[in-house]
Amino acid sequence: MSEERVRLEALPTLYPRVFSGSPMSWGFEHGDGWCELIETLCARLDTILQEEPGALIEVRQVKEKFGGLRFYYNLSGASDALADNIRQAVDMAAQASSHICERCGRPGSVETNVGWLSALCAACRAKAT
Ligand SMILES: [Zn+2]
Repeated sequence: MSEERVRLEALPTLYPRVFSGSPMSWGFEHGDGWCELIETLCARLDTILQEEPGALIEVRQVKEKFGGLRFYYNLSGASDALADNIRQAVDMAAQASSHICERCGRPGSVETNVGWLSALCAACRAKAT
């Protein structure tokens, strides 16, 4: 297991209010390059949750699709304002993911790669084709 994978797997323990439901069926379905992005997002969500003691997030699925991050979650016990803040944080991370190489974390861009859209840097794209 890579160092990044170990850090990702530790997130539910670090942020029990973000991962309040049962464990995700398939874990983190994306490359290690997004590790820091996901860590930052989870820390941000945890901070937002501090504003309302009754609010809980249940992360359902975290995966890559068409070169972008998809972060699916349920939210309970939150006000509309808190729900907006959480949505914005997730949207920002999703937008940022298109500019981060999914393999190595360096700046990248979304392009078609052997028929698939993926967010990669030039070096990783060269290796992948
Ligand atoms: Zn790369």
